[in-house]
Amino acid sequence: MRKIVVANWKMNGSRSLIEAYKSTCATFEAAAVEVVVCPPFPLLADARQSLNQQLRVGAQDCSAHTDGARTGDVSAALLAEVGAQYCIIGHSERRAGHTETSELISLKQRQLIAKDIRPILCVGETDVERREDRWKKVLNAQLEAAFQSGTGPSLVAYEPVWAIGTGLIPTSEIIVETISYIRKQLGAKTGAQSSLRVLYGGSADETSAARLVSLDGVSGLLVGGASLDARRFGAMISSV
Ligand code: 13P
Repeated sequence: MRKIVVANWKMNGSRSLIEAYKSTCATFEAAAVEVVVCPPFPLLADARQSLNQQLRVGAQDCSAHTDGARTGDVSAALLAEVGAQYCIIGHSERRAGHTETSELISLKQRQLIAKDIRPILCVGETDVERREDRWKKVLNAQLEAAFQSGTGPSLVAYEPVWAIGTGLIPTSEIIVETISYIRKQLGAKTGAQSSLRVLYGGSADETSAARLVSLDGVSGLLVGGASLDARRFGAMISSV
């Protein structure tokens, strides 16, 4: 299966970053890796239009509801209309900063699947949970909730909270053991492990990308900071 690299711009980026991606991405070996860019909502349509040939486009969140009086929320239907093919859900910055529960995240997953948008379910433990050896329990609870919407996730990003934006990348042993655990837990529930893709995210950059994607069980990367510079991101893609 092709590796997949997802750029999560978070609350960054601009039309000029889309333009920079356009020039850099023209040189990508399209067949070698699937590239998804997730800009903030207002840039989605522009990104889809400008990058359509080279990249796929995703959103960073969606509403758990279909429509209605929900100021500031964005529905899966609208995301589909502006061309989103993927959507990140359950990012730790939303779990922590917007008190999103796993139950709410599972409702978002349901909305996305109904509109043929592929959810990228983020899971990950904090440093305390890792140090106290509670990571399995935490990840399991986050994965369990994903089944409340009916179908399990097919694209999961393992993002240890302590690795996000810190420059700290877990040892290869931790990444391999954790991703193997995620695969085992999901496989036990769905029985369809072969189509499951599990990404790693947290301080991945152009110097670590090749090593990270070569680890056992790693299907690709979810990239924050290093995706905000088109040349750095391009170097990552070329190295994978
Ligand atoms: P960084 O790559 O900046 O650590 O962010 C990772 C992340 O949160 C991607 O969703």
